[in-house]
Amino acid sequence: MKYLVLLVIVFVGLWWIRQQRRVAPTPQNKSGPQIMVACAHCGTHIPDNDAIHGTQGVYCSPAHRNSHES
Ligand SMILES: [Zn+2]
Repeated sequence: MKYLVLLVIVFVGLWWIRQQRRVAPTPQNKSGPQIMVACAHCGTHIPDNDAIHGTQGVYCSPAHRNSHES
């Protein structure tokens, strides 16, 4: 019983440390949240910065833009 209480205290301590870490800002490679867009051809979600913008939507690659818009 004594060990059970000790175990609970250890788990609560670990949980608390995790909570503290979650509050701290996580380093991001790019500033701001990434806007994800779906490819109009295959539906793959890609960051808006990397998307190929066509006349009928956005695409994951120039090949998909060509095959969708031709
Ligand atoms: Zn695609």
